[in-house]
Amino acid sequence: MNYISTRGAGIGERHTFSDILLGGLAKDGGLYLPAEYPRVTAQELDAWRSLSYADLAYEILRKFSDDIPEEDLRSLTRRTYTASTYSNVRDHESASQITPIKTLGVENGTTLSLLELSNGPTLAFKDMAMQLLGNLFEYTLAKHGETLNILGATSGDTGSAAEYAMRGKQGVRVFMLSPHQKMSAFQTAQMFSLQDPNIYNLAVAGNFDNCQDIVKAVSNDHAFKAANKIGTVNSINWARVVAQVVYYFKGYFAATKSNAECVSFTVPSGNFGNVCAGHIARMMGLPIEQLVVATNENDVLDEFFRTGVYRVRTAAETYHTTSPSMDISKASNFERFVFDLLGRDPTRVLQLFHDVEEKGGFDLAASGDYARVKEFGFVSGRSSHADRVETIRDAFNRYNTMIDTHTADGLKVAREHLKPGIPMIVLETAQPIKFGETIREALQREPERPAAFIGMEELPQKFDIVSADAGVVKAYIAERV
Ligand SMILES: *Cc1c(COP(=O)(O)O)cnc(C)c1O
Repeated sequence: MNYISTRGAGIGERHTFSDILLGGLAKDGGLYLPAEYPRVTAQELDAWRSLSYADLAYEILRKFSDDIPEEDLRSLTRRTYTASTYSNVRDHESASQITPIKTLGVENGTTLSLLELSNGPTLAFKDMAMQLLGNLFEYTLAKHGETLNILGATSGDTGSAAEYAMRGKQGVRVFMLSPHQKMSAFQTAQMFSLQDPNIYNLAVAGNFDNCQDIVKAVSNDHAFKAANKIGTVNSINWARVVAQVVYYFKGYFAATKSNAECVSFTVPSGNFGNVCAGHIARMMGLPIEQLVVATNENDVLDEFFRTGVYRVRTAAETYHTTSPSMDISKASNFERFVFDLLGRDPTRVLQLFHDVEEKGGFDLAASGDYARVKEFGFVSGRSSHADRVETIRDAFNRYNTMIDTHTADGLKVAREHLKPGIPMIVLETAQPIKFGETIREALQREPERPAAFIGMEELPQKFDIVSADAGVVKAYIAERV
């Protein structure tokens, strides 16, 4: 398997899965994709139907990472996808399934269900890929006798998923910046209660933008970056995307009885990483009818799929919403889909994303390319705070199921795209306890709290307060690596 850049640099060069694992963007600023998508045969689909999550992950990942010896990959996937790591299940009978499916009911002749992706250590779907990344990083670094220092900024989900994936891993340290006293008590406790010596929480005296600016400043200091082996784990990381392909297959098998059936997925979306994995599953041949992109008030993606216009938002146009993990001004993985939409023409992708930088976007409405969006199964919709509250209430009253705000955005939009006879699977991306304020508003009751999290806010916390200054952060890192 060879990987290429969406912008065309290095055509003819060879990049293996391991080559691109620890890096981010390709050198021309593009994103990596396989030179071609592996196809799944009917026999394979039949054989995969009965596999455990870990073994399904092995079968899918090995098509993308043929430079990792099979026995090593087998052991990595079996160590990653264990019932004890994904133990925060609501229904204990489904404890070994990793991503259990929960049927809500039949609406408009369609079975509507939730695919639970948030039973991992940080109660959000990012654990699904990040836990594998932790094991892959440790494995690859050990093989080459290297170390890596991950620097990131977080306002919640990504940072904690990264810390729980990397804690205790040989050869890896995490330096995670978060805005001091600006995260919820729950999210703060989740990160700061980690006592592992390779995890550093830096509480920055400032806001989330200050944290992101510091990460950018450090990353632009190429000498510092190289000397201190700085890396990232952001959502454009290819291994994260491909790890997410697995649960589309698992969800398909759970919702169907034979491979003659089709299903649709609705995906609460921000940076387009999750639904990009659905697109790849579909390109591999998984029978997916529709991929429904659900956004919140930050509707860059909904606008594109409805109109063909991609227009990134300014900071002033980006809303802070009650589904905060979808609050984006541009969708960092979207370029991967655009590459396929344009028939994999890197020259045009380069031009369009140059236009994004220079003019703030591009317009495909009048071109034949936008008409092809349908061939890829994509449709979309948006949701608001009032919709979330209403949908959380409805799911609780009608189906006795408590859902979080992001999943509520998904369910709201899914209902606008039901097709009779085609099961609709909404991806559950977080558990309600993470966004308790809106649960209290909708239901006048406390969110469900998994047993492992009882009393978490009272645990001792480990963090250092630093000023919002890239120089201070650099000195902090340099002293510890
Ligand atoms: C990250 C996140 C999303 C958005 O996923 P993308 O891959 O960025 O589209 C949705 N819901 C939750 C809870 C998240 O943490």
